[in-house]
Amino acid sequence: MRWEELTGDQFVAAVDECEGVCLIALSVVERHGHHLPMGTDMYEGRGILERVAAQEKVILFPDYIFTQIPEARHLAGTISIDGDLMIQLLDNVCREIARNGLKKIVFVNAHGGNNGLVAFYNMRQLYKPSDYVVYLVNPFFAAFGSELQLPWPREEDGHAGPGETSMMRALRPDLVNMELVPDDDEGKARNRLAHLREAGVQTGIWWYADHPTHYAGNAAHATAEAGEQMLDVMAAAVVRAVRAIKADTEAKRLQDEFFARSGTPSV
Ligand SMILES: [Zn+2]
Repeated sequence: MRWEELTGDQFVAAVDECEGVCLIALSVVERHGHHLPMGTDMYEGRGILERVAAQEKVILFPDYIFTQIPEARHLAGTISIDGDLMIQLLDNVCREIARNGLKKIVFVNAHGGNNGLVAFYNMRQLYKPSDYVVYLVNPFFAAFGSELQLPWPREEDGHAGPGETSMMRALRPDLVNMELVPDDDEGKARNRLAHLREAGVQTGIWWYADHPTHYAGNAAHATAEAGEQMLDVMAAAVVRAVRAIKADTEAKRLQDEFFARSGTPSV
């Protein structure tokens, strides 16, 4: 069930039917090479969630695009929200979801650049008590893990590469232009900070150093069939997660216990 499609009358019953579970796909608007639209992550997140909702009763939060993307601010069309506002907005959105009765909030990460943000955001839940739990699921790990044999070498995939291009060929073929996939070295990492990486050092400019055009890999391998398989594997991973989350009562109990104890720390 998509939140924005329910009437106010239907909403209360929907919260019950979904056992208080709300899924929110965290995406972003950023350049995806020459051949994919800037909303690629949004379409991928929506595609995964709609497959999940066909198998398990859940409420889907409307498309959420205000996450981490300062590293694409040099590229036209990027929407990059300030870091502190991004966190405040996520807090506000979670409180609104919970205020409407959905106490199990599931972040489904649909943007690779969010991995640091969502991990930190989850730990940040331990600063202040709340009447809800934020659960985090990263379905991209399932699709690019061992569960699926994809028809391209792993090292030739990356941002806007064959994986994402395949999913977009499955979801919105009208928005994919395969004729614009580069046939030169644009998708290869430039390794301009290799001297630091080799010494175990990372900086905020690492992604720009490697992929200044936000294209990595070789999207020429992409097929709609592989995209369908990836979306199915990712949706299955989220369905498994939702079932575990629906059955879970421990996370909230432990969260409450933790806050009861953290006011007067002891051994
Ligand atoms: Zn993407």
